[in-house]
Amino acid sequence: MNYYSLNNSAPKVSFKEAVINGIAPDRGLYFPSEIITLPSSFFEEITTLSNHEIAFRAIHQFVKADLPEPVLKEILVQVLDFEFPVVPIDVNTGTLELFHGPTMAFKDVGARFMAQCLGYFSKNTSTEVTVLVATSGDTGGAVANGFLGVEGVQVVILYPEGMVSDIQERQLTTLGQNISALKVAGTFDDCQKMVKTAFVDAELLAAKKLTSANSINVARWLPQLFYFLFAFKQAKQKGKEMVFAVPSGNFGNICAGMVAQKLGMPVKHFIAATNVNDTVPQFMETGKYSPKPSTATISNAMDVGDPSNFIRIQHLYQNNLSLLQQMFSSYSFSDAETKTAMKEIYKDANYIADPHGAVGYLGLKKYQSTHPESYGIFLETAHPVKFLNIVEDTLGVSLEIPPQIQKVMDKEKYATSITTYQDLKAYLLK
Ligand SMILES: *Cc1c(COP(=O)(O)O)cnc(C)c1O
Repeated sequence: MNYYSLNNSAPKVSFKEAVINGIAPDRGLYFPSEIITLPSSFFEEITTLSNHEIAFRAIHQFVKADLPEPVLKEILVQVLDFEFPVVPIDVNTGTLELFHGPTMAFKDVGARFMAQCLGYFSKNTSTEVTVLVATSGDTGGAVANGFLGVEGVQVVILYPEGMVSDIQERQLTTLGQNISALKVAGTFDDCQKMVKTAFVDAELLAAKKLTSANSINVARWLPQLFYFLFAFKQAKQKGKEMVFAVPSGNFGNICAGMVAQKLGMPVKHFIAATNVNDTVPQFMETGKYSPKPSTATISNAMDVGDPSNFIRIQHLYQNNLSLLQQMFSSYSFSDAETKTAMKEIYKDANYIADPHGAVGYLGLKKYQSTHPESYGIFLETAHPVKFLNIVEDTLGVSLEIPPQIQKVMDKEKYATSITTYQDLKAYLLK
Protein backbone atom coordinates (compact mmCIF):
# COMPACT_ATOMS: atom_id res chain seq x y z
CA MET A 1 0.00 0.00 0.00
CA ASN A 2 1.43 3.34 -1.09
CA TYR A 3 0.33 6.84 -0.26
CA TYR A 4 0.08 9.57 -2.85
CA SER A 5 -0.20 13.30 -2.50
CA LEU A 6 -3.56 14.88 -3.26
CA ASN A 7 -1.64 17.60 -5.10
CA ASN A 8 -0.39 14.86 -7.43
CA SER A 9 3.09 16.21 -7.95
CA ALA A 10 5.06 14.39 -5.28
CA PRO A 11 6.41 10.83 -5.37
CA LYS A 12 4.36 8.02 -3.86
CA VAL A 13 5.66 6.95 -0.47
CA SER A 14 5.32 4.12 2.02
CA PHE A 15 3.23 4.40 5.20
CA LYS A 16 6.43 4.98 7.13
CA GLU A 17 7.52 7.87 4.93
CA ALA A 18 4.03 9.37 4.96
CA VAL A 19 4.07 9.34 8.77
CA ILE A 20 7.53 10.84 9.01
CA ASN A 21 6.88 13.49 6.33
CA GLY A 22 3.45 14.43 7.67
CA ILE A 23 2.67 16.37 4.53
CA ALA A 24 3.96 15.67 1.01
CA PRO A 25 6.76 17.84 -0.47
CA ASP A 26 4.21 19.42 -2.86
CA ARG A 27 2.17 20.49 0.24
CA GLY A 28 -0.53 17.92 -0.54
CA LEU A 29 -2.16 15.59 1.99
CA TYR A 30 -1.27 11.92 1.68
CA PHE A 31 -3.99 9.49 0.69
CA PRO A 32 -3.89 5.67 0.55
CA SER A 33 -3.48 4.35 -2.99
CA GLU A 34 -6.37 1.95 -2.48
CA ILE A 35 -9.05 1.08 0.06
CA ILE A 36 -9.75 -2.63 -0.19
CA THR A 37 -13.25 -3.61 0.96
CA LEU A 38 -13.26 -6.04 3.88
CA PRO A 39 -15.18 -9.31 3.44
CA SER A 40 -18.89 -9.01 4.30
CA SER A 41 -18.39 -11.75 6.91
CA PHE A 42 -16.34 -9.25 8.91
CA PHE A 43 -19.36 -6.98 9.30
CA GLU A 44 -21.74 -9.91 9.82
CA GLU A 45 -19.70 -11.34 12.69
CA ILE A 46 -18.43 -8.04 14.09
CA THR A 47 -20.38 -8.45 17.35
CA THR A 48 -18.30 -11.53 18.14
CA LEU A 49 -14.97 -9.74 17.64
CA SER A 50 -12.95 -7.86 20.25
CA ASN A 51 -12.12 -4.21 19.64
CA HIS A 52 -8.48 -5.17 19.15
CA GLU A 53 -9.41 -7.72 16.49
CA ILE A 54 -11.71 -5.23 14.72
CA ALA A 55 -9.03 -2.55 14.73
CA PHE A 56 -6.36 -4.95 13.51
CA ARG A 57 -8.40 -6.17 10.57
CA ALA A 58 -9.47 -2.66 9.61
CA ILE A 59 -6.06 -0.96 9.65
CA HIS A 60 -3.82 -3.84 8.57
CA GLN A 61 -3.95 -3.13 4.81
CA PHE A 62 -2.88 0.46 5.36
CA VAL A 63 0.21 -0.24 7.46
CA LYS A 64 1.32 -3.82 6.84
CA ALA A 65 4.34 -2.97 4.67
CA ASP A 66 5.97 -1.11 7.56
CA LEU A 67 4.50 -2.58 10.75
CA PRO A 68 5.00 -6.33 11.23
CA GLU A 69 1.87 -8.07 12.60
CA PRO A 70 3.12 -8.49 16.17
CA VAL A 71 4.22 -4.84 16.29
CA LEU A 72 0.83 -3.64 15.04
CA LYS A 73 -0.95 -5.87 17.55
CA GLU A 74 1.17 -4.55 20.39
CA ILE A 75 0.54 -0.95 19.30
CA LEU A 76 -3.21 -1.60 19.29
CA VAL A 77 -3.01 -3.05 22.81
CA GLN A 78 -1.27 0.15 23.96
CA VAL A 79 -3.65 2.46 22.11
CA LEU A 80 -7.02 0.83 22.78
CA ASP A 81 -7.03 0.29 26.54
CA PHE A 82 -10.31 2.01 27.31
CA GLU A 83 -14.01 1.77 26.45
CA PHE A 84 -16.00 3.33 23.58
CA PRO A 85 -19.60 2.90 24.75
CA VAL A 86 -22.71 3.88 22.77
CA VAL A 87 -25.03 5.38 25.41
CA PRO A 88 -28.77 5.49 24.55
CA ILE A 89 -30.30 8.98 24.38
CA ASP A 90 -33.75 8.16 22.97
CA VAL A 91 -35.32 5.35 20.92
CA ASN A 92 -33.53 6.21 17.70
CA THR A 93 -30.49 8.03 19.05
CA GLY A 94 -27.34 7.06 20.87
CA THR A 95 -24.11 8.85 21.65
CA LEU A 96 -20.73 7.28 21.09
CA GLU A 97 -18.56 8.36 24.01
CA LEU A 98 -15.00 8.85 22.83
CA PHE A 99 -13.73 10.53 25.98
CA HIS A 100 -12.64 7.66 28.19
CA GLY A 101 -8.96 7.96 27.27
CA PRO A 102 -6.12 9.56 29.22
CA THR A 103 -6.88 13.18 28.19
CA MET A 104 -10.64 12.60 27.85
CA ALA A 105 -10.73 13.77 24.23
CA PHE A 106 -11.26 11.55 21.23
CA LYS A 107 -7.88 12.55 19.86
CA ASP A 108 -6.18 10.19 22.31
CA VAL A 109 -6.46 7.22 19.96
CA GLY A 110 -4.99 8.95 16.92
CA ALA A 111 -2.28 10.68 18.93
CA ARG A 112 -1.20 7.49 20.68
CA PHE A 113 -1.25 5.47 17.46
CA MET A 114 0.91 8.03 15.73
CA ALA A 115 3.29 8.28 18.69
CA GLN A 116 3.73 4.50 18.79
CA CYS A 117 4.36 4.36 15.02
CA LEU A 118 6.88 7.19 15.12
CA GLY A 119 8.59 5.68 18.15
CA TYR A 120 8.89 2.36 16.28
CA PHE A 121 10.21 4.05 13.13
CA SER A 122 12.74 6.08 15.14
CA LYS A 123 14.25 2.99 16.73
CA ASN A 124 17.83 2.41 15.62
CA THR A 125 18.06 5.77 13.86
CA SER A 126 20.22 8.59 15.14
CA THR A 127 18.16 11.56 13.88
CA GLU A 128 15.68 12.90 16.33
CA VAL A 129 12.25 13.82 14.97
CA THR A 130 10.54 17.00 16.13
CA VAL A 131 6.76 16.90 16.13
CA LEU A 132 5.41 20.40 15.64
CA VAL A 133 1.74 20.88 16.30
CA ALA A 134 -0.72 23.75 16.54
CA THR A 135 -3.72 23.24 18.79
CA SER A 136 -7.01 25.04 19.31
CA GLY A 137 -7.54 22.99 22.45
CA ASP A 138 -7.70 19.23 22.58
CA THR A 139 -5.04 18.20 20.09
CA GLY A 140 -2.25 19.54 22.27
CA GLY A 141 -3.18 17.54 25.35
CA ALA A 142 -3.71 14.31 23.45
CA VAL A 143 -0.46 14.71 21.53
CA ALA A 144 1.49 15.66 24.67
CA ASN A 145 0.15 12.64 26.51
CA GLY A 146 0.53 10.23 23.59
CA PHE A 147 4.15 11.21 22.90
CA LEU A 148 5.31 11.63 26.49
CA GLY A 149 8.51 9.65 26.97
CA VAL A 150 8.64 8.33 23.38
CA GLU A 151 12.34 8.08 22.62
CA GLY A 152 13.81 9.90 19.64
CA VAL A 153 10.86 12.29 19.42
CA GLN A 154 10.64 15.89 20.67
CA VAL A 155 7.24 17.55 20.72
CA VAL A 156 6.62 21.30 20.39
CA ILE A 157 3.03 22.48 20.83
CA LEU A 158 1.76 25.94 19.86
CA TYR A 159 -1.47 27.23 21.35
CA PRO A 160 -3.25 30.61 21.31
CA GLU A 161 -2.78 32.37 24.62
CA GLY A 162 -6.01 32.83 26.55
CA MET A 163 -8.10 30.86 24.07
CA VAL A 164 -7.90 27.35 25.45
CA SER A 165 -9.60 26.24 28.64
CA ASP A 166 -7.64 26.01 31.89
CA ILE A 167 -7.78 22.22 31.86
CA GLN A 168 -6.67 22.08 28.23
CA GLU A 169 -3.77 24.38 29.01
CA ARG A 170 -2.70 22.28 31.97
CA GLN A 171 -2.80 19.12 29.88
CA LEU A 172 -0.23 20.50 27.48
CA THR A 173 1.98 22.62 29.72
CA THR A 174 2.57 20.43 32.76
CA LEU A 175 4.17 17.25 31.44
CA GLY A 176 7.78 18.27 30.80
CA GLN A 177 10.27 15.64 29.53
CA ASN A 178 10.16 15.63 25.70
CA ILE A 179 7.12 17.93 25.55
CA SER A 180 7.38 21.75 25.26
CA ALA A 181 4.56 24.25 24.99
CA LEU A 182 4.71 27.62 23.21
CA LYS A 183 2.04 30.15 24.04
CA VAL A 184 1.35 32.37 21.04
CA ALA A 185 0.06 35.93 21.26
CA GLY A 186 -2.55 35.40 18.55
CA THR A 187 -5.29 33.07 17.34
CA PHE A 188 -5.28 29.38 16.46
CA ASP A 189 -5.00 30.41 12.80
CA ASP A 190 -1.80 32.30 13.65
CA CYS A 191 -0.43 29.18 15.35
CA GLN A 192 -1.30 27.05 12.35
CA LYS A 193 0.25 29.56 9.96
CA MET A 194 3.52 29.47 11.91
CA VAL A 195 3.58 25.69 11.81
CA LYS A 196 2.91 25.69 8.07
CA THR A 197 5.67 28.25 7.52
CA ALA A 198 8.09 26.08 9.48
CA PHE A 199 7.36 23.11 7.23
CA VAL A 200 8.50 25.03 4.14
CA ASP A 201 11.44 26.84 5.73
CA ALA A 202 14.46 25.33 3.96
CA GLU A 203 16.95 26.61 6.50
CA LEU A 204 15.00 25.07 9.37
CA LEU A 205 14.41 21.80 7.52
CA ALA A 206 18.13 21.49 6.87
CA ALA A 207 18.73 21.54 10.61
CA LYS A 208 15.68 19.62 11.92
CA LYS A 209 13.57 16.64 10.94
CA LEU A 210 10.08 18.09 11.39
CA THR A 211 6.74 16.35 11.25
CA SER A 212 3.18 17.26 12.15
CA ALA A 213 0.81 15.54 14.56
CA ASN A 214 -2.31 17.24 13.25
CA SER A 215 -4.90 15.08 11.55
CA ILE A 216 -3.20 15.71 8.21
CA ASN A 217 -0.80 12.98 9.37
CA VAL A 218 -2.11 9.62 8.17
CA ALA A 219 -1.12 7.89 11.41
CA ARG A 220 -3.34 10.24 13.37
CA TRP A 221 -6.16 10.39 10.89
CA LEU A 222 -6.76 6.77 9.83
CA PRO A 223 -7.06 5.03 13.25
CA GLN A 224 -10.12 7.20 13.92
CA LEU A 225 -12.04 4.84 11.65
CA PHE A 226 -12.02 2.37 14.58
CA TYR A 227 -14.63 4.45 16.41
CA PHE A 228 -17.23 3.99 13.73
CA LEU A 229 -16.67 0.23 13.65
CA PHE A 230 -16.92 0.02 17.45
CA ALA A 231 -20.20 1.96 17.30
CA PHE A 232 -21.50 -0.19 14.44
CA LYS A 233 -20.73 -3.30 16.49
CA GLN A 234 -22.83 -1.98 19.38
CA ALA A 235 -25.78 -0.66 17.36
CA LYS A 236 -26.00 -3.40 14.72
CA GLN A 237 -28.70 -5.35 16.54
CA LYS A 238 -31.06 -2.35 16.28
CA GLY A 239 -31.60 -3.53 12.71
CA LYS A 240 -32.08 0.01 11.43
CA GLU A 241 -30.15 2.00 8.86
CA MET A 242 -27.39 3.82 10.67
CA VAL A 243 -26.35 7.44 10.37
CA PHE A 244 -23.44 9.18 12.11
CA ALA A 245 -23.34 12.82 13.18
CA VAL A 246 -19.84 14.06 13.87
CA PRO A 247 -18.98 17.40 15.47
CA SER A 248 -16.37 18.60 13.00
CA GLY A 249 -13.50 21.08 12.94
CA ASN A 250 -10.72 19.87 10.68
CA PHE A 251 -12.99 17.06 9.39
CA GLY A 252 -10.44 14.31 10.08
CA ASN A 253 -12.70 12.25 12.32
CA ILE A 254 -15.68 12.21 9.96
CA CYS A 255 -13.41 11.53 6.99
CA ALA A 256 -12.05 8.46 8.79
CA GLY A 257 -15.65 7.33 9.31
CA MET A 258 -16.22 7.66 5.60
CA VAL A 259 -13.17 5.44 5.02
CA ALA A 260 -14.80 2.84 7.31
CA GLN A 261 -17.78 2.97 4.98
CA LYS A 262 -15.49 2.42 1.99
CA LEU A 263 -14.23 -0.66 3.84
CA GLY A 264 -17.79 -1.95 3.53
CA MET A 265 -19.43 -0.84 6.78
CA PRO A 266 -23.16 -0.33 6.12
CA VAL A 267 -23.98 3.32 6.82
CA LYS A 268 -26.78 5.37 5.34
CA HIS A 269 -25.46 8.87 5.83
CA PHE A 270 -22.83 11.07 7.48
CA ILE A 271 -23.65 14.43 9.01
CA ALA A 272 -20.86 16.88 9.74
CA ALA A 273 -22.07 19.30 12.40
CA THR A 274 -20.15 22.53 12.84
CA ASN A 275 -20.39 25.63 14.99
CA VAL A 276 -20.60 29.01 13.22
CA ASN A 277 -17.35 28.21 11.40
CA ASP A 278 -19.41 27.05 8.46
CA THR A 279 -17.04 26.82 5.50
CA VAL A 280 -18.14 23.26 4.71
CA PRO A 281 -21.92 23.73 5.23
CA GLN A 282 -21.63 26.71 2.86
CA PHE A 283 -19.73 24.64 0.34
CA MET A 284 -22.33 21.86 0.42
CA GLU A 285 -24.97 24.44 -0.42
CA THR A 286 -23.17 26.56 -2.98
CA GLY A 287 -20.35 24.36 -4.34
CA LYS A 288 -17.96 27.19 -3.55
CA TYR A 289 -15.18 26.62 -1.04
CA SER A 290 -14.41 29.92 0.67
CA PRO A 291 -12.10 29.51 3.66
CA LYS A 292 -12.25 32.29 6.22
CA PRO A 293 -10.63 33.24 9.51
CA SER A 294 -11.99 31.23 12.41
CA THR A 295 -14.52 32.63 14.87
CA ALA A 296 -14.21 31.79 18.58
CA THR A 297 -17.08 29.68 19.97
CA ILE A 298 -17.91 27.60 23.04
CA SER A 299 -17.02 24.47 21.04
CA ASN A 300 -13.48 25.76 20.54
CA ALA A 301 -11.90 22.54 19.29
CA MET A 302 -13.96 23.09 16.14
CA ASP A 303 -13.06 26.73 15.53
CA VAL A 304 -11.56 26.08 12.12
CA GLY A 305 -12.15 28.30 9.11
CA ASP A 306 -10.23 26.23 6.55
CA PRO A 307 -10.65 22.56 7.49
CA SER A 308 -7.64 20.64 6.24
CA ASN A 309 -9.22 17.22 5.76
CA PHE A 310 -12.21 18.29 3.71
CA ILE A 311 -10.10 17.80 0.60
CA ARG A 312 -9.81 14.11 1.52
CA ILE A 313 -13.59 13.83 1.80
CA GLN A 314 -14.05 15.40 -1.61
CA HIS A 315 -11.44 13.05 -3.01
CA LEU A 316 -13.34 10.01 -1.63
CA TYR A 317 -16.24 11.18 -3.81
CA GLN A 318 -14.21 12.02 -6.91
CA ASN A 319 -14.62 15.74 -6.24
CA ASN A 320 -18.21 15.35 -7.36
CA LEU A 321 -20.54 17.49 -5.25
CA SER A 322 -23.80 15.74 -6.14
CA LEU A 323 -22.30 12.30 -5.40
CA LEU A 324 -21.06 13.64 -2.08
CA GLN A 325 -24.43 15.17 -1.21
CA GLN A 326 -26.06 11.73 -1.42
CA MET A 327 -23.88 10.44 1.40
CA PHE A 328 -22.90 13.53 3.37
CA SER A 329 -24.62 16.62 4.78
CA SER A 330 -23.22 19.45 6.83
CA TYR A 331 -25.06 21.89 9.10
CA SER A 332 -23.88 24.79 11.23
CA PHE A 333 -25.17 25.89 14.66
CA SER A 334 -24.72 28.93 16.87
CA ASP A 335 -23.53 28.94 20.48
CA ALA A 336 -27.08 29.81 21.59
CA GLU A 337 -28.47 26.76 19.78
CA THR A 338 -25.70 24.65 21.28
CA LYS A 339 -26.60 25.71 24.82
CA THR A 340 -30.28 25.06 24.18
CA ALA A 341 -29.38 21.58 22.93
CA MET A 342 -27.28 20.89 26.04
CA LYS A 343 -30.31 21.79 28.18
CA GLU A 344 -32.64 19.67 26.06
CA ILE A 345 -30.39 16.60 26.24
CA TYR A 346 -30.08 17.04 29.98
CA LYS A 347 -33.81 17.48 30.53
CA ASP A 348 -35.01 14.74 28.17
CA ALA A 349 -32.32 12.12 28.62
CA ASN A 350 -30.68 13.17 31.87
CA TYR A 351 -27.41 13.20 29.94
CA ILE A 352 -24.70 15.84 30.29
CA ALA A 353 -23.23 16.64 26.89
CA ASP A 354 -20.25 18.89 26.28
CA PRO A 355 -20.68 21.71 23.71
CA HIS A 356 -19.06 19.65 20.90
CA GLY A 357 -21.29 16.65 21.49
CA ALA A 358 -24.29 19.00 21.61
CA VAL A 359 -23.40 20.36 18.16
CA GLY A 360 -23.29 16.76 16.91
CA TYR A 361 -26.70 16.13 18.48
CA LEU A 362 -28.14 19.18 16.72
CA GLY A 363 -26.82 17.96 13.37
CA LEU A 364 -28.34 14.55 13.95
CA LYS A 365 -31.75 15.92 14.95
CA LYS A 366 -31.82 18.18 11.90
CA TYR A 367 -31.19 15.19 9.64
CA GLN A 368 -33.64 12.96 11.50
CA SER A 369 -36.40 15.55 11.18
CA THR A 370 -36.65 14.40 7.55
CA HIS A 371 -35.30 10.84 8.05
CA PRO A 372 -37.08 9.61 11.20
CA GLU A 373 -36.59 5.93 10.39
CA SER A 374 -32.82 5.93 10.86
CA TYR A 375 -30.84 5.04 13.96
CA GLY A 376 -28.53 7.97 14.64
CA ILE A 377 -25.31 8.07 16.57
CA PHE A 378 -23.72 11.38 17.46
CA LEU A 379 -20.13 11.39 18.61
CA GLU A 380 -19.37 12.82 22.04
CA THR A 381 -15.80 13.96 21.45
CA ALA A 382 -14.84 15.41 24.84
CA HIS A 383 -15.79 14.81 28.45
CA PRO A 384 -18.04 17.66 29.72
CA VAL A 385 -15.54 18.40 32.49
CA LYS A 386 -13.11 19.68 29.85
CA PHE A 387 -15.54 22.55 29.27
CA LEU A 388 -16.36 22.86 32.93
CA ASN A 389 -17.50 26.48 33.15
CA ILE A 390 -19.78 26.39 30.12
CA VAL A 391 -21.36 23.10 31.14
CA GLU A 392 -21.87 24.10 34.77
CA ASP A 393 -23.24 27.54 33.87
CA THR A 394 -25.54 26.24 31.14
CA LEU A 395 -26.98 23.31 33.08
CA GLY A 396 -26.74 24.57 36.64
CA VAL A 397 -24.96 21.39 37.69
CA SER A 398 -21.66 20.80 39.36
CA LEU A 399 -19.33 18.26 37.80
CA GLU A 400 -16.97 15.93 39.54
CA ILE A 401 -13.40 16.12 38.32
CA PRO A 402 -12.27 12.67 37.12
CA PRO A 403 -8.87 11.36 38.26
CA GLN A 404 -7.20 11.80 34.83
CA ILE A 405 -7.94 15.52 35.01
CA GLN A 406 -7.29 15.95 38.72
CA LYS A 407 -3.77 14.68 38.11
CA VAL A 408 -2.85 17.74 36.03
CA MET A 409 -4.79 20.30 38.08
CA ASP A 410 -2.17 20.54 40.80
CA LYS A 411 0.83 20.74 38.49
CA GLU A 412 2.73 23.86 37.50
CA LYS A 413 2.08 25.21 33.98
CA TYR A 414 5.18 25.90 31.94
CA ALA A 415 5.10 27.58 28.52
CA THR A 416 7.37 29.90 26.54
CA SER A 417 5.69 33.01 25.09
CA ILE A 418 6.23 33.78 21.42
CA THR A 419 4.79 36.38 19.05
CA THR A 420 6.26 35.90 15.58
CA TYR A 421 7.43 33.14 13.29
CA GLN A 422 11.01 34.28 13.92
CA ASP A 423 10.49 33.53 17.62
CA LEU A 424 9.39 30.02 16.75
CA LYS A 425 12.31 29.47 14.43
CA ALA A 426 14.82 30.73 16.97
CA TYR A 427 13.27 28.43 19.57
CA LEU A 428 13.51 25.38 17.32
CA LEU A 429 17.08 26.11 16.31
CA LYS A 430 18.40 26.87 19.77
C1 LIG B 1 -10.68 18.02 17.51
C2 LIG B 1 -12.04 17.99 18.07
C3 LIG B 1 -13.17 17.99 17.25
C4 LIG B 1 -13.06 18.10 15.74
O1 LIG B 1 -12.52 16.94 15.14
P1 LIG B 1 -11.99 17.01 13.64
O2 LIG B 1 -11.45 15.65 13.35
O3 LIG B 1 -10.92 18.07 13.61
O4 LIG B 1 -13.15 17.37 12.78
C5 LIG B 1 -14.41 17.90 17.84
N1 LIG B 1 -14.53 17.85 19.18
C6 LIG B 1 -13.49 17.87 20.01
C7 LIG B 1 -13.71 17.84 21.46
C8 LIG B 1 -12.20 17.93 19.48
O5 LIG B 1 -11.16 17.94 20.31
